Amino acid sequence: MPQRPLCIGCDAELDATAARFPAGFFLILPHRANPRMGMVCPICPRCSHKADEEIFAGAVVALGGIWPELRRIDPAALSGDVGQA
Ligand SMILES: [Zn+2]
Repeated sequence: MPQRPLCIGCDAELDATAARFPAGFFLILPHRANPRMGMVCPICPRCSHKADEEIFAGAVVALGGIWPELRRIDPAALSGDVGQA
């Protein structure tokens, strides 16, 4: 069982040290105005070079086991200022 957060796109273990610091973060928020909770997942340096679509697809696969109803909402289908990608 990993002791550190895993990259959203692979099994790389990341933390706050310089050698394992994430190159980016993947933010997941509920579709509602003023969400009070969300999930921040790290992205490793290797996966940070992937296209956005590939990162999204990997995130859905990685989180699908614990969140089976997870789905991506097209930002164009959102109204107001909710859903900025
Ligand atoms: Zn990765």
